[in-house]
Amino acid sequence: MPISKEDLRQKYGLTDEEFDVVEALALRPTCEHCDRALPPESTEARICSFECTFCATCVDTLLGNVCPNCGGGFSPRPIRPARNWKNGNYLGAIPARTLRKHRPVDPTAHAGFAQTLRNVPPEQR
Ligand SMILES: [Zn+2]
Ligand SMILES: [Zn+2]
Repeated sequence: MPISKEDLRQKYGLTDEEFDVVEALALRPTCEHCDRALPPESTEARICSFECTFCATCVDTLLGNVCPNCGGGFSPRPIRPARNWKNGNYLGAIPARTLRKHRPVDPTAHAGFAQTLRNVPPEQR
């Protein structure tokens, strides 16, 4: 049986509020490939469904809209409000991540992996 989110919440004794923080979209600070800065307000950040984070340039050129980690497509990363417009749901309460994840993609290996996937729309992968 796969572990459900509710199982995890109970296992670690997290309150609903704590769990909201854990569950919030990971706003990673840099492109996983080229390491350029992608601050929370960046319109250049792209994520896959697992929140693998790359810059638009890497997604459009090197990656061909194929995530090297899962094979899914990318979307623009939503921007978390910088100000507390409502109920504390903002960057000040749930900040961006600070830990860089720099795992450059091997262009040759990715070309092989993405060869067929890049011609399949993400919704059909
Ligand atoms: Zn990049
Ligand atoms: Zn991915």
